[in-house]
Amino acid sequence: RATRSGEEVRGYVPSMGQIFMRRFQLVTQLRQALENGEVSVHYQPKVSLPSRHVRGVEALVRWEHPEFGKLHPDEFVPAIEAAGLIGALTSFVLDEALARVRRWLDEGLRISVAVNLSVRTLLDAEFPEQVAAALERFAVPPELLTLELTESGVMSNPQRALPVLRELHALGVVLAVDDFGTGYSSLAYLRQLPVDEVKIDKSFVLGMGTDLGDLAVVRSIVELGHSLGLTVVAEGVEEDVARDQLESMGCDVAQGYLISRPLSERRLEAWLHARTTR
Ligand code: C2E
Ligand code: CA
Ligand code: CA
Ligand code: CA
Repeated sequence: RATRSGEEVRGYVPSMGQIFMRRFQLVTQLRQALENGEVSVHYQPKVSLPSRHVRGVEALVRWEHPEFGKLHPDEFVPAIEAAGLIGALTSFVLDEALARVRRWLDEGLRISVAVNLSVRTLLDAEFPEQVAAALERFAVPPELLTLELTESGVMSNPQRALPVLRELHALGVVLAVDDFGTGYSSLAYLRQLPVDEVKIDKSFVLGMGTDLGDLAVVRSIVELGHSLGLTVVAEGVEEDVARDQLESMGCDVAQGYLISRPLSERRLEAWLHARTTR
C-alpha cells in the first residue's frame, strides 16, 4: 500500500547525499542532544466518543536541532534505530511521559499516556523490567501507560516479540497495535496477541470521506475489533464529518488535528485547562 498519510508538509526536500550525512550526524549527536534539552516530547490528546472527554495523550518525540531546525521522528528515529541507540531515546520518552502523568496525578487528574515502541524494543528481553522500574520510580499505576507497537514489529520476529509482549501485559500496561490495517496480519492474528487496543491507521481515516473502500476498512476494523473485546482508536481525525461517522460506528476513541495537533507540554497544559473549565 502506497503511503498516503497526510503528514504535515515540511519546508524543503534534502538530496540523498544530504540525507545520508544528516543521518550520520544525528546518530552521533543523539546523546548530547538528550542532555542539552534539544529533544522533547510533545503530546497529542485523545478523546472518548461520544463524550469527548480527554482520555489520554500520545507522546510524540521532537528534536529541535541547532542546524536542521525542528525534526519530526520520521526524520531521525529510523537512523537512531539502525544505529542501535533506540533504547536511550525510548527511556527518555518513557521517563518524560511518566513524569507528566505523575504531575497530573498530583493535581488530581487521571490521564493516561501512550509511548511508541520501535521494532527493536519489542525484541529486547530486558525492556519489561525497565518499564516496571520506571512505573515504580514515578509511582504511576500501570493502566495509565499505553505502549503502542506495530504489526510489522511483532511479525518481524514473533518468537522473540511475544514473550516480551506477554511480560509487558502481565505488568498491567495497556498494549495497542498502531497503524492497524497497513501491515500483513489480519484481525484473526490479533486474537493471538496480548493486546487491548487497536489504532486504525490514519490513511484509512483520512480517506474514508471520499473513498468507499477506506470507509469499509474502517467500519470492519471497528466491528471486528469490538468482537475481539478491543478498544478501537481512530487516528488522523481531521474533520467533523469523520468524527461523526466514527461516532455512529461506535469507535471508542478519536485522535487527530480536529481535536488537537501534538502540543508542547506547556501548550498542552493550557489546552487541558481551557477544556476542563469550559
Ligand atoms: P504514529 O505513532 O502513527 O503517530 C501519529 C502521527 O500522525 C504523528 O506524526 C502525528 O503528529 C500525526 N498526526 C496526528 N494527527 C493527525 C491528523 O489528524 N492528520 C495527519 N495527517 N497526521 C496526524 P509524528 O509526530 O511526526 O510521528 C511520526 C511517527 O514517528 C509516529 O507515527 C511514530 O511511529 C514515530 N514516533 C513518534 N514518537 C516516537 C518515539 O518516541 N519513539 C519511537 N520509536 N517512534 C516514535
Ligand atoms: Ca503511535
Ligand atoms: Ca499510527
Ligand atoms: Ca506511523
